[in-house]
Amino acid sequence: MAAGLLLVVSGPSGAGKGTVCRELLRRLPGLWYSVSATTRPPRPGERPGVDYYFISEEEFRRLREADALLEWAQVYGDYYGTPRAPVVERLAQGQDVLLEIDVQGARQVKARLPEAVTVFLLPPSYGELARRLAGRGTEDAAQMRRRLELASFEIERAKEYDYLVVNEEIAQATAKIEAIITAEKCRPQRAAPYLLQEGIVDE
Ligand code: 5GP
Repeated sequence: MAAGLLLVVSGPSGAGKGTVCRELLRRLPGLWYSVSATTRPPRPGERPGVDYYFISEEEFRRLREADALLEWAQVYGDYYGTPRAPVVERLAQGQDVLLEIDVQGARQVKARLPEAVTVFLLPPSYGELARRLAGRGTEDAAQMRRRLELASFEIERAKEYDYLVVNEEIAQATAKIEAIITAEKCRPQRAAPYLLQEGIVDE
């Protein structure tokens, strides 16, 4: 059985990552979303264990020291990390896994698991990014400035990714990511375990 596909989605806040990832999960019921751990407090409406595991800095440090995180990063002053065991188990069972993480985390994942497929989601323009952030209304002016600064830094790193998707429209951006998944699954390296088993190719 082929291992599942590890899909990493990054992008500046305001690029519509959350919405696109939710739509992707709705369309692909076999895709498993990795819930991250974070030290930031929950926003209104966020559910513990569903959106994030909300933990203390002390707990986060313990996870890091136990090497229980596949990757971790400090973003806007808070810590974020991907619990390793559930991701590795799902992949081994052949299930596809979705990580929604920042550029620092994506780099660590790609270094540890080069077969991971990384997608960078871009807003159609910088102006549109600012407009979306303002429209969300969850950030105050200082937070928004920080997010916009970080966004331009992150966008410069977009070329490190395997794919770039411009999110002009949610359905279209989601369809592009679905197409990426489909294409990646057709790569001979991924199909090889099946081909070997069937005797279609030799080792
Ligand atoms: P937010 O606080 O807006 O939910 O997320 C802030 C940033 O942290 C986003 O860029 C998001 O992709 C990133 N992030 C969320 N979870 C993780 C994680 O587990 N690891 C890393 N490296 N970044 C994360």
